[in-house]
Amino acid sequence: LAPSVMDIGQRFVLWVRSHCCHDKSSADIETKPKAKGKDIVVLKNDHVDAPKRPLPPLPPRDMYVALYDYTARTADDLSFRAGDRLEALNKTGPWWFARALTGISANKEGFVPANYVAQEESLYAEPWYFQDTKRVDAEKMLLSEGNETGAFLIRQCESQKGELSLSVLDNGKVKHYKVRKLDNGGYYVSTAKSFLTLKELVQYYSENNHGLCVQLGEPCKKLEAPQTHGLSYNTVDHWEISRSSIKLLKKLGTGQFGEVYEGLWNGTTPVAVKTLRCGNMDPNDFLREAQIMKKLRHSKLIQLYAVCTLDEPIYIITELMKNGSLLEYLQKDKGKELQFHDQVEMAAQVAAGMAYLEQQNYIHRDLAARNVLVGENNICKVADFGLARVFKVDNENVYEAKEGSKFPVKWTAPEAINANKFSIKSDVWSFGILMYEIITFGQMPYPTMSNYQVIQVLPSGYRMSCPANCPTVFYNIMMDCWKENDFDRPTFETLQWKLEDYFDLDVTSYADTNRIP
Ligand code: AMP
Repeated sequence: LAPSVMDIGQRFVLWVRSHCCHDKSSADIETKPKAKGKDIVVLKNDHVDAPKRPLPPLPPRDMYVALYDYTARTADDLSFRAGDRLEALNKTGPWWFARALTGISANKEGFVPANYVAQEESLYAEPWYFQDTKRVDAEKMLLSEGNETGAFLIRQCESQKGELSLSVLDNGKVKHYKVRKLDNGGYYVSTAKSFLTLKELVQYYSENNHGLCVQLGEPCKKLEAPQTHGLSYNTVDHWEISRSSIKLLKKLGTGQFGEVYEGLWNGTTPVAVKTLRCGNMDPNDFLREAQIMKKLRHSKLIQLYAVCTLDEPIYIITELMKNGSLLEYLQKDKGKELQFHDQVEMAAQVAAGMAYLEQQNYIHRDLAARNVLVGENNICKVADFGLARVFKVDNENVYEAKEGSKFPVKWTAPEAINANKFSIKSDVWSFGILMYEIITFGQMPYPTMSNYQVIQVLPSGYRMSCPANCPTVFYNIMMDCWKENDFDRPTFETLQWKLEDYFDLDVTSYADTNRIP
């Protein structure tokens, strides 16, 4: 082997690998792992003459960095830890085919969830850049365990596209600063000093506070990894999965449609399994609805992963939520620990999930605390959307209003009870009742009245009075949801921002940057 070939170094070795390995039998090529810090490819005589012409420039490698830890769920995907480097080989769909370059899967190839990685050197790969993060979520993350004074993040606000904010933890309080953009592309927090990139801005304020409340310290810890798109790369299109891949572990509860279990998919992945009694539904109706439901994806909606419909009982496989239904959560000890701030934030999360359904022109039809699930850190997600349309429900207490009609009467808008007129606006009515459940820690609405009495009094304008310890502003939002004319009720989009901005309704809540020299 000519020494010059050996000296060409790693770029040439990579060229050899990608351009020769595929053409020539692997038996022709041996790779020695390391010599003087470089890989050396040893070619047999008949291939040494390969690079006669100047080598074409290498295509840039498509390098990514893992943002979260991920544990492989099938033999075809890769486990990795946040910070590991991966080369994307095929970026089709929500699961990419990649080669791990570092970490526990180094040198292995397999599938990775695309939303767990960010392009190397890009802003998205910075550990302090929290893309679509709202102010409430930023505060929640910074105030959670593991962050110390100086912990910070820069976020791009979901509701105000293009707006950047710097959120910093200062002795148990979160302060927010607007990061403004210059016309020529630079950034500044104070007009006194601007930077070409956000990275430079962060570097500058990490060395000295320069007028910020504190010097920037560690990037904020991320609370939870996002949901993957389906269970794995091969369930994205194969919605029906084998029943034998699901192991039922523990019964979590009995709902209006059947039993719910904690389960394990493929021996690796915790899931919730809803078993459905077919007696009270037409399986075809269910499948039709499930086709729509599986397309609805939002961080505040329970994700439907897969179904087993070939035998009975039908299984619906969804993401597992550690703390069960919001109703039970509110009623148990955990609920008593909640502060008003947490209650508003939980209502805001439900409104966010519902605002997504509103945008998708989808109606829930059974919004109530029993159909919202709670994960860690009070994370709430809306569940069971659309199922009420498919099932003839049979929980007499909640659903039977009068003979022949089965509704969750105390949650249902008058026009839906009387004229079967379900719309996103009847969901808004139900949301007002859900706010009542949140603020009363899971009390039954209209506690002293029967379903029948409720139906009787609503048309004359009767509404629940303001619960004890419920601030008027919060109660007024509930009352808006119960306007007689459905067009007068707010949209979920409005409810979402009203609740998200409940404590900070104007920009003056931003820390004062005029004082920054
Ligand atoms: P449901 O049929 O939705 O009313 O569910 C019955 C009970 O099972 C609920 O009250 C929850 O406690 C529990 N449950 C339902 N779905 C899940 C889930 N995805 N994760 C955890 N627990 C669940």
